[in-house]
Amino acid sequence: MKLDHDGIRGWLKETDEVLLGALWAAADATRRASVGDAVHLRGLVEISNYCVRRCAYCGISVEHEDLVRYRMGADEVMECARQAVTLGYGTLVMQAGEDYGLTRDFIASLVRRIKSETPLAVTLSLGERPEGDLLAWREAGADRYLLRFETSDPDLYELIHPSLPGRRSDRFAQLRRLREMGYEIGSGVMLGIPGQSYDSLAQDILRFGELDLDMIGVGPFIPHPETPLGRGGPMAATLPPAEQVPATEAMTYKVVALARLVCPHANIPSTTALATLNRAQGRELGLRRGANVVMPNLTPVKYRALYEIYPAKACIGETAAECGACLTRRIEALGRGIGKGPGGRGRP
Ligand code: SAM
Repeated sequence: MKLDHDGIRGWLKETDEVLLGALWAAADATRRASVGDAVHLRGLVEISNYCVRRCAYCGISVEHEDLVRYRMGADEVMECARQAVTLGYGTLVMQAGEDYGLTRDFIASLVRRIKSETPLAVTLSLGERPEGDLLAWREAGADRYLLRFETSDPDLYELIHPSLPGRRSDRFAQLRRLREMGYEIGSGVMLGIPGQSYDSLAQDILRFGELDLDMIGVGPFIPHPETPLGRGGPMAATLPPAEQVPATEAMTYKVVALARLVCPHANIPSTTALATLNRAQGRELGLRRGANVVMPNLTPVKYRALYEIYPAKACIGETAAECGACLTRRIEALGRGIGKGPGGRGRP
């Protein structure tokens, strides 16, 4: 299977179900040969919905003034960490808006507590924080960092993810620095951003390979009505329809499968966004087309609806225990087992 720019673009545009069957089979075989059948569970805690950014796609942008904001306390997060251990998860993922109320010291001491009181690996996804913060958190024991580059088209990126005044946003540079600091690095993109072309998405997938990502998360762009992109408007839909990537379930499976083929050893989640588009089968199909990770939500139910990056997220009312039990059942029905331990990237 030729995975140069034209080969990838060809797969992204493919609609023949029989031919696509070959892509799913290749991704599934590569997944099995490279990372095995185990599905690793990463418990996700959305620790704050404050954010200083004005991302045109995101429901927790600072511009969403009506949103009630929350920031979890250390003991609340520790309670989630203990629940992750009880439920058999190997990793705690702490995600938030870019919230400077989560200070360097607060996160460092939280990471230290998790690492000393539990066997969990710790993944952070806290945005474009200064170098000193990232170093302090790595020294405290954080293992991994997730930072999607969203799109490799620099003009589209700046349009939908404006830089902070005086600080140009360069997520590729930050990913390189994170790797140098010893983090496992994860990145990814949204699919179907208005203005995202097939050529730029093919370029994104090639970048996954160039960055040799340890983790890759992709999901469809889901419009949020309280955002500039969700309202349509001047920045939306500037491409001829034949060039615009659709934000569909089918496109998500294609990109999951292609990501597996360009980065055989990466950990790739079957995301909540996929489960949102297809509640009955979305997660399962992701796992059968290249993914090997699921991220059950551990955020206390009272905060869940407030972490509304896009509307009608799947599983929003489930407790952590219900969510874990449902996912375990779904994974076992596929004939796959639950991964044990931290489940970091095994380098060949
Ligand atoms: N603040 C951190 C950051 O920007 O990396 C982490 C939180 S951010 C909300 C996590 C991810 O949510 C983003 O990387 C983006 O891909 C995704 N996201 C935000 N709004 C979305 C939307 N409307 N549809 C799909 N994904 C969205």
